[in-house]
Amino acid sequence: MNQRQSTTNNPDVIVVGGGPVGSYSALNLAKLGLRAMVFEEHSQIGFPNHCAGHISIRSLKNLGYYPLPEGIVENTFNAANFYSPQGTKFSIRLNQPVTCTLNRALFDQQIAAQAMSAGASFSLNTSVQSLIKEGRTIKGVGIRHSDEQEETIYAKIVLDAEGVSSRLLRQGGLRTMRSEGLVYAVEAEIENAQDIEPHAVEVYLGRAYAPGFYGWLIPKPDGTAKLGLAASHGNPNEYLKRLMTKHPIASKQLGKAKIKQINYHAITLGGPIERAYADGFLAVGDCASQVKPSTGGGVIFGMACAKIAADTASEALRVGDVSSNSLQVYQKRFLDQLRFDFTVMLRLRRFLNALSDEKTDEMLRFCGRMGVDRALSGVDEIDFQGKLMLQVLGKPSVLATMAYFALLYLSANP
Ligand SMILES: Cc1cc2nc3c(=O)[nH]c(=O)nc-3n(C[C@H](O)[C@H](O)[C@H](O)COP(=O)(O)OP(=O)(O)OC[C@H]3O[C@@H](n4cnc5c(N)ncnc54)[C@H](O)[C@@H]3O)c2cc1C
Repeated sequence: MNQRQSTTNNPDVIVVGGGPVGSYSALNLAKLGLRAMVFEEHSQIGFPNHCAGHISIRSLKNLGYYPLPEGIVENTFNAANFYSPQGTKFSIRLNQPVTCTLNRALFDQQIAAQAMSAGASFSLNTSVQSLIKEGRTIKGVGIRHSDEQEETIYAKIVLDAEGVSSRLLRQGGLRTMRSEGLVYAVEAEIENAQDIEPHAVEVYLGRAYAPGFYGWLIPKPDGTAKLGLAASHGNPNEYLKRLMTKHPIASKQLGKAKIKQINYHAITLGGPIERAYADGFLAVGDCASQVKPSTGGGVIFGMACAKIAADTASEALRVGDVSSNSLQVYQKRFLDQLRFDFTVMLRLRRFLNALSDEKTDEMLRFCGRMGVDRALSGVDEIDFQGKLMLQVLGKPSVLATMAYFALLYLSANP
């Protein structure tokens, strides 16, 4: 391996990873007048894509990303159909479209382009191999270019947005996400799904098909769809095959479907890591496990935390103190914003995981009988599920259902 003479001007902040969270961090850093440099190991932003891109419209609006340029939003949804493993269906129909599915590659490229226009630099085909430390303080990174040349780049702060792999987080001396919170996902592009509503997301619950998570089918107007599932154990591919051939409803919808493309990736559901900062270092996005434990959605929470990380970095640089003592305010700020939602979603995930397939079936039947769908019809935000719960808790059907869920949970965990 050759050590290349550095030709790069040292930036204020190095960002590891050009996913949505890394690029959005770089955009915010650049807007604050800081020199941000993003290193992305792949040759193109947005590829390979592993994500369904199912996102709340209101959250995108709050971040200034809705409407989006043509082609990025592939479909919008005002309904979701939940199925038990036995085929019981419970549907929620909302008064307006509340979620959309994005072309994630184009979305990621849009954020990266904005970051570049704001002044951030991107170095593609460049893998960050190591963190450079002086004492306990992280002072830069060792990078490897696609031609195998290696280089050391220094910065005042390294912002880690490397995604779920968390290789650098360990080098930074931080504890990684809880391994028992990981599920292993398969995400496929399919054609020829049958009998699906054009603006409804299909969700398949139950241990027999997706233990520890669920399966999903997200239709697109061109007749193709995104099909996926995740599981806490076992081979997700085998579960996908079983879903497509044995599930009483999905087998009818997917019996003639053809898989055009398939990807595999992990999702972290264990809630945020207990410490996402060190001396000269901040972790953000999937690598800090800033992901909804209920649904595995990490784009919105990761981007919200990226803004907080950029603000924190800017303040620390202004006062010339990048010690962990100065950067710890980042953890407090993102938890102040998201702690309640994380707590509710972690409980919801634990509840769903505890149910046998028979109890899952019972739960969906009960929701239908109680008219929970009517109580939820006015909902326009699904990301912040703690706040959503508070919004609907006053409705008698929701209260009764919560009490019933508590009984179900207790009977599953005597
Ligand atoms: C199957 C599946 C479906 C999902 N569906 C949804 C969904 O519908 N909605 C939703 O909100 N979320 C969803 N998610 C989660 C979502 O994909 C992540 O939360 C989101 O991509 C996190 O963004 P990030 O920038 O933190 O990480 P990533 O998107 O993983 O980006 C990390 C980037 O860092 C780069 N990188 C890593 N290590 C290095 C290194 N050492 N040097 C240089 N570059 C490096 C990677 O190449 C990558 O580009 C899904 C996840 C999976 C697996």
